[in-house]
Amino acid sequence: MDLAGLTVKAAHELLKSRQVTSRELTEAVLRRIESVDDKTKAYVTVTSDIALRQADAADKRIASGDAAPLTGIPIAIKDNMCTRGVLTTCSSRILYNYKPVYDATVVERLAAVNAVMVGKTNLDEFAMGSSTENSGFFASRNPWDTEKAPGGSSGGSASAVAADECLAALGSDTGGSIRQPASFCGVTGMKPTYGRVSRYGLVAFASSLDQIGPITKDVTDTALLLNVISGKDPRDSTSLDVPVPDYTKSLAPDVKGIKIGVPKELFGMGTAPEVASAVWDAVKLLAGLGAEWKETSTPSVEYGLPVYYIIAPSEASSNLARYDGVRYGLRSKDSPDPITMLMKTREEGFGAEVKQRIMIGTYALSAGYYDAYYLKAQKVRTLLRRDIERAFEEFDVLVTPTSPTVAFGLGERVDDPLAMKLSDVCTIPANLAGIPAISVPCGFHNGLPIGLQIMAPGLGEEIALRVAYAFEQNTDYHKQKPNL
Ligand code: GLN
Repeated sequence: MDLAGLTVKAAHELLKSRQVTSRELTEAVLRRIESVDDKTKAYVTVTSDIALRQADAADKRIASGDAAPLTGIPIAIKDNMCTRGVLTTCSSRILYNYKPVYDATVVERLAAVNAVMVGKTNLDEFAMGSSTENSGFFASRNPWDTEKAPGGSSGGSASAVAADECLAALGSDTGGSIRQPASFCGVTGMKPTYGRVSRYGLVAFASSLDQIGPITKDVTDTALLLNVISGKDPRDSTSLDVPVPDYTKSLAPDVKGIKIGVPKELFGMGTAPEVASAVWDAVKLLAGLGAEWKETSTPSVEYGLPVYYIIAPSEASSNLARYDGVRYGLRSKDSPDPITMLMKTREEGFGAEVKQRIMIGTYALSAGYYDAYYLKAQKVRTLLRRDIERAFEEFDVLVTPTSPTVAFGLGERVDDPLAMKLSDVCTIPANLAGIPAISVPCGFHNGLPIGLQIMAPGLGEEIALRVAYAFEQNTDYHKQKPNL
């Protein structure tokens, strides 16, 4: 049996009925990493020893008759989430040799149910990018075509899931970093409502936008992970104190009477015809299952990209001020004084994209420009949020492409920042509005996956999951595997 290729749900059934042990499952995943990771380059660090130890602990728990849905399941963690005693790099040189003294809350929650951590996955440095090419180490590759980008910034996590180098993964999403790579790699990815999942221990990029979420092989697995990672955390004041439903209960393949809005603006701006037609086919399929749909307009989403590229760099410039070479990470050598040391550390430690964003953000926040840029962006963000809220007065979900094109070639967009950033045009509005959105595979073009995005109102994860599940159960795109 191809153990590494299993979904979380399928593996859980085998573990629970004692047909397979977590050690066997974990060894199969580690072997898979060994045999394909030189092609996908999904991982920055593989934690084999920890994984095997955790697998044995999981097997003990299962033997005692207590198998939670994620007990013994090999999971990968994006390398911007803190793991105690394990390198946490953010794919940046500035965090050189950084081993956190604590676990992120999501990591703690996975450990509490005896999930198995197999490793830390590659990302664009500090999650800034859409292809993993901004990683300070190396670019990850798309398992469907290793000359193509896996998307980003959670490109390592999406690539690892698609290549069966883990059963599921965690990513983070500030402007699309879970959904866009999930779409490029033909897997499922969900950005929950802002505050649904604790960000304690997630290295901060843009604090009003960042959210952690699952990247999985299907919608059921997304619900299973969401059940474990969601909920209030006293250590993250932005986490919501709202009960966590059992998200697997929303997995009914029934969309009768559900109202779908299709915002026409998000089909403009560089949407490839094959992507548009796959998404329209998806809408028609859902209509065939009893949903109602209508084209709608949310005009201010057109300002999503410019607003995001003021707000995210502004928050980043403030969040990244902490890397000073003093307390942890890289410290530039042989400086005559602390100020020079700080400046040289930042010059040597940060890559070009991160530096550019710090400069843009510092500029947008500076006295004299604050009103013209940051404040104005905040006001337009409010308009955009209202536009989306208005749409949800009429519709249960909004459906769009996840990204306007399929995966682009490695190197193809590095010198064209606008083209690179346009790959997030459909995902950014959900972050600005704080709402949940899921991407599921909905087709292929030239052998590369296409993603369907389903957005729901704040805390409407259940309806998004339900529509996504109904679509998935009536298609087989999620079952296709790349040939590595
Ligand atoms: N690609 C977007 C950016 O570069 C979003 C990244 C993210 O969601 N972390 O900022």
